[in-house]
Amino acid sequence: MPRKLAAGNWKMNGLRANVKELATLAQRHSDASVDILICVPTTLITTCQDTLFDIGGQDCHTAESGAHTGDISAQMLSDAGATYVITGHSERRADHGETDQIVAAKSAAAYAAGLTAVICVGETLDERGSGTTLDIIDGQLAGSIPGGATSDNTVIAYEPVWAIGTGKVPTLEQIAEVHAHIRAQLQARFSDGTDMRILYGGSVKGSNAADIFGVPHVDGALVGGASLKADDFSPIISALEKS
Ligand code: PEP
Repeated sequence: MPRKLAAGNWKMNGLRANVKELATLAQRHSDASVDILICVPTTLITTCQDTLFDIGGQDCHTAESGAHTGDISAQMLSDAGATYVITGHSERRADHGETDQIVAAKSAAAYAAGLTAVICVGETLDERGSGTTLDIIDGQLAGSIPGGATSDNTVIAYEPVWAIGTGKVPTLEQIAEVHAHIRAQLQARFSDGTDMRILYGGSVKGSNAADIFGVPHVDGALVGGASLKADDFSPIISALEKS
């Protein structure tokens, strides 16, 4: 069984004053039996370096360095203290036109810098409505995971676009179907696909976490809004520990 992972994505939220939330979390989960990752804005990575938890970035450039004003390389994230980076989040796919090819290149850059990539996939509401969810997921998995992926350097996050930040959550059957499908795809392509962690993401809260973590092949969660406050994230971590 892969070791479970509770991952927070602070998105474009968080000033230095908010880092105290991590100290509160650390008091409550100092002996956690699951991995805990917080993907903070790049500006906070160094500030968070002393936390008990793994710290991640939310994006990286495909190149190691160069003339790319405003961008951050995977090597820079690592140098600042990050050990993970999210790649291919649907907000970046939508806001910045990131294709599967770009996501794969970013993930490969993460591996080269020694980071673990949390590669996000997920269908839109229209795609779910038209019955093409599994085809969309297949295409994203095939296109976004680069060669060289292993269970050590890669985590997959299944995040239905329509569930992110909306309070809408797929049924447990829908989550089970997609996670089992992703597991089968990973096993077919990678020798250690059984051990690659598959997170569910999209409106996870303390109130629905236990049910979601009971679904086969859900190895944890990628949590946006409910990761910002220790009081909201802590019950999710506890539910994962009990699952
Ligand atoms: C996310 O941003 O990855 C996410 C899942 O957000 P939320 O938990 O707020 O839906």
